[in-house]
Amino acid sequence: MKEETEVIFETCYYGNPILRHPVELVERVDESVRSLVTSLTTHMNNNKAGVGMAAPQLGVSSSVFVCRHVHMIGRTVKMGRVKVYINPEILEKSLEIEAGDEGCLSIPGITVNVKRAKKIKVRTRNLNWELVEETLTGWNARVFLHEFDHLQGVLITDYTSDQFMQEHATTLARLVEKSSGKPVIYQYVGRDSIQ
Ligand SMILES: [Zn+2]
Repeated sequence: MKEETEVIFETCYYGNPILRHPVELVERVDESVRSLVTSLTTHMNNNKAGVGMAAPQLGVSSSVFVCRHVHMIGRTVKMGRVKVYINPEILEKSLEIEAGDEGCLSIPGITVNVKRAKKIKVRTRNLNWELVEETLTGWNARVFLHEFDHLQGVLITDYTSDQFMQEHATTLARLVEKSSGKPVIYQYVGRDSIQ
């Protein structure tokens, strides 16, 4: 008889070391990958502002993330379907860049203006283990690049200045406290002090 074990995934917040670990490549799509994808999608959908989520944010060091694609109809943003990326790679990045505000489900309360390539060409495995290539532009490119960063252990706070880190020291320190369960001194004294 097949034994069913339910894995409970929880969101990892800023300060959790797993968010800084580069991930491992996925070798095949099995039950654990499928259950991870389901959980990533649920966590993303449960959060109104959630348009993407990467495996390290649920404490799993695997090269997997999900994004909710959007498309513009005139000037209206329409939410599209959820896309799954497994072992994604960036093949091309446009030289043209665009600045835009980004939040992160692992760093609630913080918004960072990040400059990203406007257009990218990517290659990825999907849930059927097919290798597919796609071109992403604008918002969809931004969300992909944000989630792709998570796979390398990069966070939006890495794009900010020391002044920004100082201004948000309390918010960040509270997240570190939440992650570690230990009290943290609410003072920013250097980039590494609270990571
Ligand atoms: Zn994020």
